[in-house]
Amino acid sequence: MKKAIYPGSFDPITFGHQDMIERSAAIVDELIVGVLNNSEKNSLFSVEERVNMLKELTKDIPNVTVDSFDGLLVDYMKKSGATIIVRGLRAVTDFEYELQIAQTNHVEYPAVETIFLVTNLKYSYLSSSVVREFAAYGGDITKFVPPQFVDRIYRKYNIKK
Ligand code: ADP
Repeated sequence: MKKAIYPGSFDPITFGHQDMIERSAAIVDELIVGVLNNSEKNSLFSVEERVNMLKELTKDIPNVTVDSFDGLLVDYMKKSGATIIVRGLRAVTDFEYELQIAQTNHVEYPAVETIFLVTNLKYSYLSSSVVREFAAYGGDITKFVPPQFVDRIYRKYNIKK
């Protein structure tokens, strides 16, 4: 039974995240999408809102569950029984940081393997921070995020479309 976690901030969810979830769910038995509860980070959506949106997005994928965690990812993995971490690589800029984290997690918890999915070419430019920046100035974000979340994102910036 291969149980994996796809951790992230998902603030907000993008088509890139959705693509990663669908592709990873197809290669593992169980996938937990784990929303990092990072209280120091000023987030657009609360952890609860992000968990609920991810649940909405993944409701038709039977082997996907959504949860939040705080503290160390490896501690959450020991508790939940997941041994695989899925991360996405968009560009070389992601690589150095991801390599360091993956190696550290492996030292902390040797049962853990990190697998990287190469970003879908269509979404390689896409990040939550770009979506936030566009939305804040009323830019068109319909090409970046699933349709059911577009208005919820604009509302956070008091933008009516
Ligand atoms: P974090 O704060 O952990 O980077 P994010 O929500 O920004 O959280 O991203 C979560 C994961 O999704 C990371 O592994 C990131 O590389 C991956 N990811 C983000 N955007 C994309 C994308 N457009 N294509 C593929 N992977 C992506």
